[in-house]
Amino acid sequence: MLHHPPARRRTTSHSRGTRVNEGAPTQTTIIIIEDEPHIRRFVRTALEAEQYAVVEAETGARGLIDVATRRPDLVIVDLGLPDCNGTDLVRDLRTWSQLPVLILSARVDENDKVAALDAGADDYLTKPFGIPELLARVRALLRRSLRQHGEESPIIRFGTVEVNLAQRQVNRAGKTVHLTAIEYRLLAQLVANAGRVLTHRTLLRDVWGPNQSDNTHYLRVYMSNLRRKLEQNPNVPHHILTESGVGYRLVLS
Ligand code: CA
Repeated sequence: MLHHPPARRRTTSHSRGTRVNEGAPTQTTIIIIEDEPHIRRFVRTALEAEQYAVVEAETGARGLIDVATRRPDLVIVDLGLPDCNGTDLVRDLRTWSQLPVLILSARVDENDKVAALDAGADDYLTKPFGIPELLARVRALLRRSLRQHGEESPIIRFGTVEVNLAQRQVNRAGKTVHLTAIEYRLLAQLVANAGRVLTHRTLLRDVWGPNQSDNTHYLRVYMSNLRRKLEQNPNVPHHILTESGVGYRLVLS
């Protein structure tokens, strides 16, 4: 298994295109694999304005070569590629890389989107999307990937909630919150994957086991318990969010 290098710090230099100096990896590099030129251009412009280095690939085959050779910090993959299915590409990539993957999907790709997330993609954007949305997803995935590279603390906070993963302790506004074993396992999955969308299938498999992947009603019940115990207003959650038709996402800020 090839692990990608620690995410690089953003700098204000070398903002044009690919990294200039391979020996001094300072700029965060993002590869976009997308066959539509206007979307590549849109994404490149938005990311370069934030000082990310951007590499474009028009096909899945080219994209995989670029990912292997340029060692980016994040990959953006369109699901409708001319030479391959984006989901297969993600599955292939996941056999050798844990790099954050953001997928781009058209509205007609609804089922493919869930399949790509199940295959290991971290998040998605549905076309058409705006620049603030794109940048927010990119930042969240890069932050998460940084946390996985040694900067992770066992204590995660959102709202007035504090989760201590080392001690399996959950506090809200300084008071202990009592969670059942399943509620805690579910919360721990959300916390470990904060910012990332988790599909129904992934959550059911990781919390209940491999034979429960169709029982999405379990999730609805337990998510509503977690919201009741952890959200300010359980009916208008700010942290434990529903991704309609896809799954759930924990938002820390
Ligand atoms: Ca396409």
